Amino acid sequence: MSDANGSAAARAGGGPESVSWFERATRVTPGGVNSPVRGFGAVGGTPLVIRSAQGTTVVDVDGREYLDFVGSWGPLILGHAHPKVVAAVTAACARGMSYGAPCTEEIELAEEVVASYPGLEQVRFVSSGTEAVMSAVRLARGATGRDLIVKFSGCYHGHVDYLLVAAGSGLATFGQPSSAGVPEDFTALSRVAPLDDVDTLTRLFAVEGSRIAAVIIEPVPANNGLLLQRREFLETLRKLCTDHGTLLIFDEVISGFRLGPAGAAGHFGITPDLATFGKIVGGGMPVGAFGGRRELMRHLSPEGNVYQAGTLSGNPIAMSAGLATLRTLRDEDGWSRLDALGRYLAETLSPVLAGSPVPASLARLGSMFWIALHAAEPPRTAEALDPRCGALYAKIFHDLLGQGVAIAPSAFEIAFLSTAHERRDVDRLADALAAALGRLEP
Ligand SMILES: *Cc1c(COP(=O)(O)O)cnc(C)c1O
Repeated sequence: MSDANGSAAARAGGGPESVSWFERATRVTPGGVNSPVRGFGAVGGTPLVIRSAQGTTVVDVDGREYLDFVGSWGPLILGHAHPKVVAAVTAACARGMSYGAPCTEEIELAEEVVASYPGLEQVRFVSSGTEAVMSAVRLARGATGRDLIVKFSGCYHGHVDYLLVAAGSGLATFGQPSSAGVPEDFTALSRVAPLDDVDTLTRLFAVEGSRIAAVIIEPVPANNGLLLQRREFLETLRKLCTDHGTLLIFDEVISGFRLGPAGAAGHFGITPDLATFGKIVGGGMPVGAFGGRRELMRHLSPEGNVYQAGTLSGNPIAMSAGLATLRTLRDEDGWSRLDALGRYLAETLSPVLAGSPVPASLARLGSMFWIALHAAEPPRTAEALDPRCGALYAKIFHDLLGQGVAIAPSAFEIAFLSTAHERRDVDRLADALAAALGRLEP
């Protein structure tokens, strides 16, 4: 429907109203955004300022409608403003916004999470994924009496200081701060290992295994493209942790309740010692959670001596949104419908990508997907990502936006299907992508 002119005109991103609002935003907020990836820094142009969203459609302040595959970066597995979630939240608001005391909603959601996830006996709610990770790591250190933490390059675990680390240049495993404001001393106890590399991991454990409190990994790394891991790699990791008395933390903030009620742990048949959640578990409200066996969780205050707290933790409105989301998924067979739609998406997009003038491939698991550019096969490690992706992605992104289709404004962020999507939405994405790829210079 859009011609070359149409997509060129849309290259700026948002229309005049978005531009005007965003101009105001940049005056009062750094970069105009409250989370960096929302700025269009990676693709150029002005972000859409959103007025409303419903189902698969987001509407910006210019009144333009977009078919959305961002889903608020993962939480909205039922689509925008699902009636059951809206009804649950509205009813909860009327009962009071926050009590600062135990409430029935947090108990019911905890029961739901514990019943869903392998090995989980107790869970504690917090207000973001970052907080969940930070608390799980403190718990792991407190419970083991050890200090070292291992993470993988390419995995994201929120913005806690000691996990904002990149592999150092000299010794591959020593973490260097990847953000200004993080002192080197704060990352001195962090180690960084490459994904998909059993040898490096084995060496790391051989040298420092008895000092490692925990290894944290996104079992389905989904914050640097979708770097799908081999089951054997995760199995080896599980075994190394067990052999060395190290706790394995699965960061399931994206994958939890997306791949199914049992998350990536269920998908791979591998049970971590601790797991972190966020995004879907809050149904679009600010929620995080972490949990594990009772024997570990009892170290948390007030039972144990690992301190952790939160004024709005277990907030009744947020808990109601999470509960309504999980119950609707269960009642409506959401996960198997999403799997089926994901398979249809792979069948539909793969031939389109095969015809691309630049090598491109699809990484997909369930309802998570990512278009890998300059890659005939989707990469498995951050080191294998092609830095030329960015410029090419920006063209495709703006072309799709011009056609009314929204994907994330960064080559390394993934896309999501929701239960609100139907096959015809996938068809529309495929057609728009084919047109965009056809306009690339070979
Ligand atoms: C989003 C995310 C986080 C951080 O969650 P916030 O709610 O943004 O703090 C942590 N880990 C993973 C895997 C994530 O995808």
